[in-house]
Amino acid sequence: MIRLDGVGKRYPDGTVAVDSLTLDVQRGELVALVGPSGCGKSTTLRMVNRLVEPTSGRIVLDGEDVTEVDPVRLRRGIGYVIQRVGLFPHLTVGANVATVPDLLGRDRDRTRERVAEMLDLVGLDHDQYADRYPHELSGGQQQRVGVARALAADPPVLLMDEPFGAVDPIARDRLQSEFRRIQAGLHKTVLFVTHDIDEAVRLADRVAVLSEGGRLEQYADPPTVLGAPANDFVADFVGADRGLRRLAVTPIEQDDLVQPPTVGPDDTIAEARQVVQRAPEPYAVVVGADGRLLGWVSERTLRGDGVVAQRVHRFDETASLGDSLRRALAEIVQHDAGWLPVVDDADRYLGVLTPEAVHAALRRTAPSTP
Ligand code: ADP
Repeated sequence: MIRLDGVGKRYPDGTVAVDSLTLDVQRGELVALVGPSGCGKSTTLRMVNRLVEPTSGRIVLDGEDVTEVDPVRLRRGIGYVIQRVGLFPHLTVGANVATVPDLLGRDRDRTRERVAEMLDLVGLDHDQYADRYPHELSGGQQQRVGVARALAADPPVLLMDEPFGAVDPIARDRLQSEFRRIQAGLHKTVLFVTHDIDEAVRLADRVAVLSEGGRLEQYADPPTVLGAPANDFVADFVGADRGLRRLAVTPIEQDDLVQPPTVGPDDTIAEARQVVQRAPEPYAVVVGADGRLLGWVSERTLRGDGVVAQRVHRFDETASLGDSLRRALAEIVQHDAGWLPVVDDADRYLGVLTPEAVHAALRRTAPSTP
């Protein structure tokens, strides 16, 4: 969808901001350009919508060389979000969102509808905010309006330059979650600039780590960048605590799960006792006939007559496939449990995660970790 081929930018004063960068972004993919200040991230981004003209190489967007497209037409298909949003201060929030070229000339009802839809998408109530002015909003809210405005014309491509850089950490965290949710629904092709590795690995499908002069040090998915940095520069940049960061970006997969013995709610206590006594740990998971997770039993509580249903303990928490290992480990630690059961969308039991399984999963995702 976006392809940079040996792209370079030498500014008139002789600064080589980007020497020769080759990079592709697939349709629907979110790629983060990350690296220290001054490494050429913004310059790279701004070459895609021709706010900066490359001095060498080629940029192809959806099959067209961007230097051959009329800049106005080019930018119509590209949403652009920058750090200090650049909302028009004299226009209301609603009018700001409606300023994208494609909305001009459309009928007013349709525009109003679209503005409401976009504000809703970014988590701002239309009735409450549409008639306010930007200075009446917090930094985080202004940033949301910036995102709504960029999305209003439904451009296939978004360029985002430190979009959440100027807001406080809590608002930033919230904006990142919101944006992940939005992107999961819209699948825009996004090139996202940040100097924050945490933000990059949280949001991106692939991360491009740049060093000075726009040199591409590594281009890979977040678990690989964190788990198998290509060289010392990347290892330094992602930091010594990259193992913890990796937990946050590694999803739970079926193969990670451990399968302790299971019993049914209608099994007799005597039967369940036998199962548990043969197990490596004196516990069993209780699963209903329909495959749903009911709880667990332990050797200690399997006393007397009756059936398992009378002795079941419920699990405090469950996880789903695709949840992060960090979330799983947090639950295990918080509840002081050795097991975290994992269920599918229909609450059917799939297996359990243990601290050892979390560790093994981390190794799986980065076989070459030293
Ligand atoms: P980043 O976004 O990674 O912080 P930039 O792309 O903004 O990096 O800048 C890359 C390099 O180009 C820096 O050395 C910066 O000082 C220089 N630079 C940026 N814009 C200009 C300009 N208009 N004229 C001259 N040098 C510039």
